[in-house]
Amino acid sequence: MQDCIFCRIVRGELPSEQVYQTDAVLAFLDIAPIAPGHVLVIPKQHYATLWDVPDHLAPQLNQVLQIVGQAVLKATHASGLNVVMNNYASAGQVVPHAHWHLIPRRENDGLLQVVQEKYESNQSMREMAEGIRRAVAG
Ligand code: 5GP
Ligand code: ZN
Repeated sequence: MQDCIFCRIVRGELPSEQVYQTDAVLAFLDIAPIAPGHVLVIPKQHYATLWDVPDHLAPQLNQVLQIVGQAVLKATHASGLNVVMNNYASAGQVVPHAHWHLIPRRENDGLLQVVQEKYESNQSMREMAEGIRRAVAG
């Protein structure tokens, strides 16, 4: 049994505002929302990151993201929605139980602004792609 905040929410040991669930997936409000209506979608079983979640859960997770994402848009009257997953601490993952953030967005709300870089050259971009293609091939 995992001593993890989200596992404790699944077991009902910690309170949460749940909005939807299936046999294997739970959706509930984030306690510190980036915007009101910010929802977290989690597998009920404990998996640390994206790469630990078994393939057979992917269709159910995707279905819940679509159903609850649509409901968040409707309930908040937002015009957009970010689906965000942080994996590992350096990417901002604080709770080590895989989860997807559903964040309702509005025009010019100023949330989640990032600065994008440029490659130094076409060559450096090509080298990066080659490195990733090699990694994909194993
Ligand atoms: P992460 O930074 O790991 O991607 O996101 C973890 C999220 O979990 C944060 O947005 C945080 O506000 C939320 N969170 C942390 N503890 C609790 C809790 O006890 N209840 C709920 N509902 N959300 C939590
Ligand atoms: Zn857990």
